Amino acid sequence: MSAPFVTRFAPSPTGYLHRGHAFSALTAFEAARAAGGTFLLRIEDIDATRVRPAFEAAIFEDLAWLGLSWPTPVRRQSEHMADYEAALEQLRARGLVYRCFRTRREIAQAMASAPHGAMEQFRGAPLPPEEEAERLDRGEPFAWRLSLAAAEARLGGFDRLSFVEEGRGPSGEHGSIAARPELGGDVVLARKDVGVAYHLAVVVDDALQGVTHVIRGQDLFEATHVQRLLQALLDLPTPVYRHHRLLVGPDGKRYAKRDRAETLRALREAGVTPAELRAEMGL
Ligand code: GLU
Repeated sequence: MSAPFVTRFAPSPTGYLHRGHAFSALTAFEAARAAGGTFLLRIEDIDATRVRPAFEAAIFEDLAWLGLSWPTPVRRQSEHMADYEAALEQLRARGLVYRCFRTRREIAQAMASAPHGAMEQFRGAPLPPEEEAERLDRGEPFAWRLSLAAAEARLGGFDRLSFVEEGRGPSGEHGSIAARPELGGDVVLARKDVGVAYHLAVVVDDALQGVTHVIRGQDLFEATHVQRLLQALLDLPTPVYRHHRLLVGPDGKRYAKRDRAETLRALREAGVTPAELRAEMGL
């Protein structure tokens, strides 16, 4: 029996899919097909302030139009908050996270006055217990942040943390890559408003869904360094990574949600066929 191969496409329903998404989804789908594996679709909808049901419906419609299929029911992150809470609880029990009461503005100010300026990512520390208790009493909102210092102490440094890159990072990184989670700073693992945040949800889901290959754009290469650390701290397996190039438009800029004219639905309405799209993408 060959080794299992499970990959996923994990869009957020915060806008319509565009060419860049199509490239990512098709790349993952074709890789699963080539390996005789499974292609999963996962809906990353934890940010209730930006998610719209119409965008989710459009994801299903657009991907089906592209010719993709996936097992159902799909995993919708908003339906699994208890899983993320359990992971956060593990990190809390191990002393690896702390409450951060700072506002975005305060963080920006702290960064601006840091010795290396904005080049450095935010790193903080837990408040003294009395101050924390007071703020909690006052009902002040807080986020949970990963403590890089505590993580480093627990693992005895990050030297042994690595992941396999079968694609290419933005600077051509390939093969066994030493993880540098410090690049991300003390990332937020649970947002004030939502109770979880991107990195934690992705790592938990990839493990729960048995994802063996994460195939996604190079824009998420840096995220992999942080996610690799979370896998180590939560005793989760590390998938193989394949970061793919980012499609750019005629202006040399990568496609983004703001380019309305380039959404898959707009292209479809304009009479573009999936076969034309694939050919254009070299797939
Ligand atoms: N939901 C993320 C996005 O829309 C992708 C997450 C991932 O592939 O790890 O960019």
